Amino acid sequence: MEIFLKLLKWVFSSKQAPAAQESPPPPVVQPELVPAAETPKPGPAPLTRADLLKGRDKQYAADFTQEISDNLDKLLIILNKLQAAYGKRLPISSGWRPPAVNEATSNAAKKSNHLKGLAVDIADADGDFMRWCLSNLELMKELGVWFEDFRWTPTWTHCQIVPPGSGRRVYVPSTAPAPAPTRWAGTYDQKFD
Ligand SMILES: [Zn+2]
Repeated sequence: MEIFLKLLKWVFSSKQAPAAQESPPPPVVQPELVPAAETPKPGPAPLTRADLLKGRDKQYAADFTQEISDNLDKLLIILNKLQAAYGKRLPISSGWRPPAVNEATSNAAKKSNHLKGLAVDIADADGDFMRWCLSNLELMKELGVWFEDFRWTPTWTHCQIVPPGSGRRVYVPSTAPAPAPTRWAGTYDQKFD
């Protein structure tokens, strides 16, 4: 009996031995678990303070206050959320404007929010960004972004992170006639104000 058991053990171990030497099977990758579709596409590089300053903090150092610097930081955070949602680079044509630059800017408001680092102009000649903003007003409300009426900004889109006096999400910035009256129909849902 004992011999039989030993024999059985030997048979068993000799059968097992080669199996143990086999390399383990490759892990089974279930295709539905591979997050290919969820891999985020590389988006545009985040905008920086330099994009908003364009060297003016050095050139106009006396005008560049801590308050403006703090405002630009807040603006930048919102702007990068905006850009990430838009998915395309936002070309900044004007960020912070010291008084001398603002005065030299045609059609610039005397108390422009650009002076305080609270506004930015995005180059937008084809109106693509404008249309995207208008179809995402819920997000604009959530982020706290207001716009000058697009008929007053022919080739750019003005965004600011403080509400205008009227509280309108899109507001008329001037008493002068609109330079681009056909750029926008002029209406949007007032629930976004
Ligand atoms: Zn502007």
